[in-house]
Amino acid sequence: MSKPDIKPVPIKIHPRLTSGRFNNMRVGMVALTQLAFFGMPWLQWNGRQAVHFNLAEHHFLIFGISLWPQDFIYLAALLVVSALGLFLWTTLAGRLWCGYSCPQTVYTQIMIWIERAIQGDHNARRKLDAAPMSAGKLAKKSATQMIMAAFSLWTGLTFVGYFTPMRELATLQMGPWDLFWTLFYGGFTWLMAGVLREKVCLHMCPYARFQGSMFDDNTLIISYDAKRGEPRGKTQAKSEAQTKGCIDCGICVQVCPTGIDIRNGLQYECIGCAACIDACDQVMDKLKSPRGLIRYTSANALQGKPAQSPSFHRPRIVIYSSLLAGIITLSTTALVLKKPFKVDVLRDRASLVEQSDDGLLQNRYSLRVINTTEQAQRYVVTVEGLPGIRMEKPGEVIEVKPAQTETVPVRVQAAPENAPRGSHRIHFVIRSLNDDVTIREKSSFIGE
Ligand code: SF4
Ligand code: SF4
Repeated sequence: MSKPDIKPVPIKIHPRLTSGRFNNMRVGMVALTQLAFFGMPWLQWNGRQAVHFNLAEHHFLIFGISLWPQDFIYLAALLVVSALGLFLWTTLAGRLWCGYSCPQTVYTQIMIWIERAIQGDHNARRKLDAAPMSAGKLAKKSATQMIMAAFSLWTGLTFVGYFTPMRELATLQMGPWDLFWTLFYGGFTWLMAGVLREKVCLHMCPYARFQGSMFDDNTLIISYDAKRGEPRGKTQAKSEAQTKGCIDCGICVQVCPTGIDIRNGLQYECIGCAACIDACDQVMDKLKSPRGLIRYTSANALQGKPAQSPSFHRPRIVIYSSLLAGIITLSTTALVLKKPFKVDVLRDRASLVEQSDDGLLQNRYSLRVINTTEQAQRYVVTVEGLPGIRMEKPGEVIEVKPAQTETVPVRVQAAPENAPRGSHRIHFVIRSLNDDVTIREKSSFIGE
């Protein structure tokens, strides 16, 4: 009985290096996203870190825009816009996000570059994996892991730098939680991009599973043109290959970071990196055959049907675009009209009502004034709602530093004949002296 022909399953995929226009775009996106990620925490804006999410003080600072817990609606809007933008983008252009900008793709790419720089091309790496342990193998593998670990740690430190001032972290002024999150996020980067790599896309990413439901027949996909390419064969005469296509060289499979064969049709494992397009285009160039045996296309185009014209008039595109436009317009308008300060009024419940030396009824409050601007601000407070009601110190100026909060105890007074027993609705009127903006905050005054 002959032994069954079982091919060994490769434990680790070592994709072959590609070059070409889509590879250049991918490299450009890696450079752009990493420049933004690593550079942003170092940027200063009005003398402070430009992007700083200060969780301890519940205060987010984004290029001069101060966001407090009351403003989290803007962050929620930003999340919704990001999600809808991704849905719209996926319907229009398929897995461009996965192929070019997803952190998993970008960091895996960087880890593969590190591996290639130390261990050589895909064949050399495969041979090294298969070789028995030796001093040379140990040295190469250790050096690779050390550089990957150093890069991952720097990534972790940068991530924490969005929450704790980066310039403090860089001089190792970090608390135990900063250290913990640096190690945690660094370890996470190393695990996801250095160890698991394409397995995250294949088995763990939920987006990979449900994005198919956003595709329609006009969505841009990477596809092999079977009409042109088949029947494939290494034995095709050169003249035939020049007009037909696939010579079954297998290079499109060798370059694939998820190890699939695009010629088997659209597969969820395809992350849309376009490495197979670059690879096949180079083969076609050598054969002097037209490029595009593997190309960006759509299901309709592959079947010879015309794309809907214009291709933006599709139900999903219209729905996602309308929602996006509505949310962006609303939140931008609200952000532009946002008051430059906020006030919370808290009644002192320990002493409901007391009498001043001159016989007036007196209530105590705490005014929490939040200056959301980047300049020091001065405010005056008046009170209204009862005849003759007034602040104990009329005209007193409250000063609050840039993007800071000041809690000020104040007393409000009213004559007993104007404030009979019970609770009376009053309003504090807080006016910014810098830009003449006024806020009214309601509260209550207890009479005797
Ligand atoms: S690279 Fe192109 S020619 Fe080579 S196997 Fe893939 S599809 Fe066929
Ligand atoms: S099939 Fe092509 S586009 Fe899809 S993951 Fe593989 S190389 Fe990238």
